[in-house]
Amino acid sequence: AIEVRALCKNFGDNEVLKGIDFHVEQGEVVCVIGPSGSGKSTLLRCVNRLEEPTSGTVMVEGIDITDSETDLDDVRTRIGMVFQQFNLFPHLSVLRNLTLAQQRAKKRGRAEATEVARRNLEKVGLSEKADAFPAQLSGGQQQRVAIARALSMDPDMMLFDEPTSALDPELVGDVLEVMKQLAREGMTMMVVTHEMGFAREVGDRVVFMDGGVVVEQGKPEDVLGNPQHERTKLFLSKVL
Ligand code: ATP
Ligand code: MG
Repeated sequence: AIEVRALCKNFGDNEVLKGIDFHVEQGEVVCVIGPSGSGKSTLLRCVNRLEEPTSGTVMVEGIDITDSETDLDDVRTRIGMVFQQFNLFPHLSVLRNLTLAQQRAKKRGRAEATEVARRNLEKVGLSEKADAFPAQLSGGQQQRVAIARALSMDPDMMLFDEPTSALDPELVGDVLEVMKQLAREGMTMMVVTHEMGFAREVGDRVVFMDGGVVVEQGKPEDVLGNPQHERTKLFLSKVL
């Protein structure tokens, strides 16, 4: 679970997050929507301390990750991250992309890491691509490899930052299908997305951010179907 309280983040004198209260329960899928520049990525990046909060607390599985005593490497192995850019190692095979971090951070031997990798490649429908290199795959396939790589670390939760935004439209569906499957299996997920169909269908809760604050949140049918705030209505009128 994720628990964010009174989170503020400034970049110089740019106040990007202005007191965010946000939580994701175990097994919950929370979709974060909002205009460009509203602070969605910054919020997500504060959850695993890729960004240092200016003030406020971020608890992950009950551990205060803003505490200087906390072992960040340990916390990060519990949190799978998938970005818009897939960030695969171009010079390594798909299989090696999946085994490397397991061997380094989880101290798994090659045989075990390979077994876990193959299991997760199968899960995302790419068993036959184990020996391919990233450049030989479509964007959608690369993103599914990135998801399989994150899953190979056995994370307690997954954070997605616009995982389909860089993809050609016809490749988006396969990636969303993998994410849907994960949700069905009970994975705890925070998903920054512009895919309103996904948010409506898969999200347990939708959080609308604008200008560094959470403007409105609730069940997808409420936030997307019957928004209470003018800013939410305006945003949805542009994207729906
Ligand atoms: P988008 O939908 O375009 O991805 P976003 O909601 O994810 O937008 P953020 O990327 O969180 O928005 O950015 C929010 C604000 O923070 C922007 O004004 C951005 O310029 C600023 N910002 C983000 N990261 C940094 C950084 N590393 N240094 C300085 N400013 C930053
Ligand atoms: Mg962003």
